Amino acid sequence: MSEGPGRVLNSSWLQNEALGPLTSFGVPARARYFTHLEQEDELPILLAQADHNDLPVLILGGGSNMLFTDDFPGLVIQIALRGISVRAESGANDWVLVNAAAGENWHSLVEYCLNNNLPGLENLALIPGSTGAAPVQNIGAYGVELADVLHSVRYFDRRNQQVHQISADECQLSYRDSIFKHALKDHAVILSVCLRLSRHTRPRLSYPALQQALANNPQPGARDVFDAVCAIRRSKLPDPRVLGNAGSFFRNPLVTVAKWQLLRQTWPDLPAYETDVPDMRKLPAAWLIEHAGWKGARAGDAGVHTQQALVLVNHGQATGRQILALAQNVARSVKERFDITLEPEVNILPANAWQGW
Ligand SMILES: Cc1cc2nc3c(=O)[nH]c(=O)nc-3n(C[C@H](O)[C@H](O)[C@H](O)COP(=O)(O)OP(=O)(O)OC[C@H]3O[C@@H](n4cnc5c(N)ncnc54)[C@H](O)[C@@H]3O)c2cc1C
Repeated sequence: MSEGPGRVLNSSWLQNEALGPLTSFGVPARARYFTHLEQEDELPILLAQADHNDLPVLILGGGSNMLFTDDFPGLVIQIALRGISVRAESGANDWVLVNAAAGENWHSLVEYCLNNNLPGLENLALIPGSTGAAPVQNIGAYGVELADVLHSVRYFDRRNQQVHQISADECQLSYRDSIFKHALKDHAVILSVCLRLSRHTRPRLSYPALQQALANNPQPGARDVFDAVCAIRRSKLPDPRVLGNAGSFFRNPLVTVAKWQLLRQTWPDLPAYETDVPDMRKLPAAWLIEHAGWKGARAGDAGVHTQQALVLVNHGQATGRQILALAQNVARSVKERFDITLEPEVNILPANAWQGW
């Protein structure tokens, strides 16, 4: 395959590839070029070929946190690197390091660790997507975040063409955020993720729904927590294979305690969660969206889920732009009603598509 004078492209790249089936929202979009990355050493060559042809590059994992509102005009590289290895941490008897290639399915990794008597990931069961994407937004659920178990991340830096390893601290993980969304955005291709787990980790049951689900079990083990998390998630969240979605569409907003107390004068039931910063509170975006009247709303095939207002859904034929328009209307009405700005958690493409309120 070649395109233009002297511009030789890779003959294995697929052209005009449909991205809908590769993403959990399932909206129609196409990649001008598409390929898989199965071997780490192929990456510099792929990136050089894209650069040589002035093609923007998009790294895709499982596509479960993406909304395409247009075709992608460059090369989409889906990470298909595989492999899991476990070794004892030197000098620390109880701790093991689990190294997983970026293309490993996250939930399969959770199951692998559970089956190998390595607890610690069970609260993060059934989060869709790849292991390589997990540090990007510091995935979290049911009282645990990746930050609780991350040891280090290996990535390829597109600027200097080198492979680097950075520690969990250097990843700057915080609520749905990391260095990969800031200083390393568009520069780092994550190759593998190393987790630090202890065989003696005790179940973490701080999340109320989990406590409730396990109320009749005086000594729940990791397998019980895993089963409970899977059951809760299956009962609450729409299955993307049935109803397209990308999980929580918005981040839970952070506000000052003063602002929360002011809002509580009008909305006495408005909940708030403590954060690491003493005078800041995290508000549930789902509550705000529901109380702005959007739960179950629908504009054509773009909708707000009937049971979980934080999840926007594709009822079948919605386009990315229709879901984007709905999201912006939701954000605008939350802004008007509560004077709170909602920020998307989902990666919306192109990057300038989100107008915000
Ligand atoms: C039903 C449902 C429930 C969900 N529940 C949760 C939840 O409980 N908690 C939670 O945190 N998230 C949740 N999510 C969101 C999603 O599962 C996570 O964000 C997940 O980590 C995305 O993985 P992915 O491989 O699909 O990433 P993608 O959607 O493919 O990519 C997401 C971002 O990461 C980048 N990226 C992907 N792989 C790499 C790599 N190897 N190197 C560099 N950049 C990369 C992409 O460029 C993009 O910016 C949910 C989603 C769905 C559909």
